[in-house]
Amino acid sequence: MKLYEFQGKRLFAKYLIPIPKGKIFYSKDDAFKMIDQDIFPIVAKAQVLVGGRGKAGGVKLIKQVSEIESALENLFGMDIKGYKVEKVLIEEGLNIEQEFYLSFMLNRNSEKITMITSSQGGTEIEILAEENPEAILKLDIDPLIGLKNHHFVKFFEKTKIKDRNLKNQFRYIIKKMYQMVIELSLNLVEINPLAIIKGNRVIALDSKIVVDDNGIPFLSDFDSFINYDDLTSEELDAKKAGLSYVQLNGNIGCIVNGAGLAMTTMDMIKYFGGEPANFLDVGGSSNPDKVINALKILKRDKNVKVILFNIFGGITRCDDIANGIKIAMEKLEISIPIVIRLTGTNEKEGVKILNSLNLDIATSMQEAVKKAVSMIGD
Ligand code: GDP
Ligand code: MN
Repeated sequence: MKLYEFQGKRLFAKYLIPIPKGKIFYSKDDAFKMIDQDIFPIVAKAQVLVGGRGKAGGVKLIKQVSEIESALENLFGMDIKGYKVEKVLIEEGLNIEQEFYLSFMLNRNSEKITMITSSQGGTEIEILAEENPEAILKLDIDPLIGLKNHHFVKFFEKTKIKDRNLKNQFRYIIKKMYQMVIELSLNLVEINPLAIIKGNRVIALDSKIVVDDNGIPFLSDFDSFINYDDLTSEELDAKKAGLSYVQLNGNIGCIVNGAGLAMTTMDMIKYFGGEPANFLDVGGSSNPDKVINALKILKRDKNVKVILFNIFGGITRCDDIANGIKIAMEKLEISIPIVIRLTGTNEKEGVKILNSLNLDIATSMQEAVKKAVSMIGD
């Protein structure tokens, strides 16, 4: 998942990487009201999840009050490569002396964390790589060993930074960015430009962060910086609960263990003339909470008319799933009919638990899917 610049900068602040003073605004009027007379120059930056925003006119340097209205008018609602601008970050305008590029990314090919550096910051790295590849330094860092002195030596050689005070600031920021990758499961953290400003201060003027989706359940204060825009609220809650869930348009809600079986279940629903309401993989574990969370999420989808469980117990134990269903039924008051296919490890124990709840249980997948489809009717 990509984070917006302002969300990324919040994370930088948490890691004590210097950022400009600034505030996020969700409407032109709010921004206009709250801008102080004596903070100029300021920079107003469109928040969109796409690169090359500066070039597209999404970054405006505003020198005085009289320019602000038209600048905001211009930014809010602007279209940048198909993304509509609905948030604008307003920051203090700083005097840039030099711009650098610095990023760390998870490199699946080398199985390392790759640090990319250039003293020609400001331009997009893809463009720089094409036009001036010698200006870029790439270093693979072994995550089992971590950052070592030789990485810093190479960084300073390439960037030609000699001043001790500056070196200390860069060293600090490099360490913090690397720490973020490890602690927050990032696929990418990029600062472009990382700038030296007046007074010999090094500061992150931009941020680009991609979080590995699998790391999201482990992030504390998830809500404070997460990007909700392209997820339904059900999908967001599923993410938080560690479930793989994609909402669809049909009316048969599915709860399945294993992604492959979940895909097959959707195919089979279609084959028998039904429409799946979602893809949902509760995973291979036996945690009853997962079932409860899954039922909570499906319950909120008003299109769901039947819930179909398809559980093939391997590592997953049927009795754990059954217990999850039992607890959920007691807690959640589910009025939607449920069809269950439950087979495999501890099947007998599971069926026993469910029988006490008067639920429909099938052993074959075909039988269960047909039943669910028939309950929808025409
Ligand atoms: P991007 O084009 O989407 O990557 O947007 P950036 O946040 O990187 O900003 C683009 C350019 O705007 C930077 O390379 C800077 O040259 C300039 N810029 C950004 N913030 C400031 C600032 O505070 N002061 C000044 N003078 N320029 C800025
Ligand atoms: Mn940038």
